[in-house]
Amino acid sequence: MKIVAPAGGIGAARFLRGLRQAAPEAEITVIGNTGDDISLFGLRVCPDLDTVMYTLGGGINEEQGWGRAAETFTVKEELAAYGAGPSWFGLGDRDFATHIVRTQMLAAGYRLSAVTEALCHRWEPGVRLLPMTDDQVETHVVVDDPEHGRRAIHFQEWWVRLRASLPAVAITAIGADDAKPAPGVLKAIETADVVLFPPSNPVVSIGTILGVPGLREAFAAKTVVGVSPIIGAAPVRGMADACLTAIGVETTAEAVGRHYGAGLLDGWLVAEEDAAADVPGVTVRARPLLMSDAESTAALAGAALDLARELA
Ligand code: GDP
Ligand code: CA
Repeated sequence: MKIVAPAGGIGAARFLRGLRQAAPEAEITVIGNTGDDISLFGLRVCPDLDTVMYTLGGGINEEQGWGRAAETFTVKEELAAYGAGPSWFGLGDRDFATHIVRTQMLAAGYRLSAVTEALCHRWEPGVRLLPMTDDQVETHVVVDDPEHGRRAIHFQEWWVRLRASLPAVAITAIGADDAKPAPGVLKAIETADVVLFPPSNPVVSIGTILGVPGLREAFAAKTVVGVSPIIGAAPVRGMADACLTAIGVETTAEAVGRHYGAGLLDGWLVAEEDAAADVPGVTVRARPLLMSDAESTAALAGAALDLARELA
């Protein structure tokens, strides 16, 4: 069984850990979002790839959902003592090592896909982790800044520094139009038995991946089952509603299902309280959607896989 999943960070990583447990024999290829990537202190940081890698590799800070377990922040404190910013992005000492190795390899001429593979040799995530593209794509958010007027800022500045407090006028993946899928991405999708969309952010995680030319069509040709990141009228965690509002989509499981639509989805898993969700042309099934522990997460992944098998 070959499974492909596009992935953001926390929601995806937890789901994928459940999927690995629910389908231990499956060959899983993960296509990671790189639109959140940012250069800080001269280092290339790939938050979503790292969240997937650390979570599946057993190195994640479980409570936080991102960053390394047993982390310390000496480098961050020393940088702050020099007044070297930004201070709003939390990089721990252990995490820094990942970004240093990545940046060294990129500077030596390796592509991000090769670098990611090298980093995964250490973490052995049990899935094949591919960035969506080796080209630079960065998600920027247009805001009306009370001090500086209308301007575009990096997604991380909006999400982490501003906690999405300024409404997004627009969200754009800079460079996406000219990006090529990373080596192996199209082949993995073409040869997949099923595609699962984890409960990732529909705009800045899955949406960004779908924006790489060729990927939407490649997914659309497969049996695709998605898991809603929205339960009731709110994201399970985080601020995905701020992104959905920016693209004019209501924060409900039904609206997100319709946003992906029958052109892309065959099945859509929603929470039991959202069982009435109606997505034309898509099989909607209600299941417990909370990934509160390993057992419930594996059950959720198993339910997505069962529906995909039925629809395939
Ligand atoms: P990010 O890049 O770290 O923001 O991670 P993702 O894009 O992969 O996932 C973020 C989404 O995961 C949010 O919109 C949450 O609503 C969703 N999420 C987090 N925990 C759960 C959960 O237990 N169940 C479901 N269904 N969604 C979740
Ligand atoms: Ca992310």
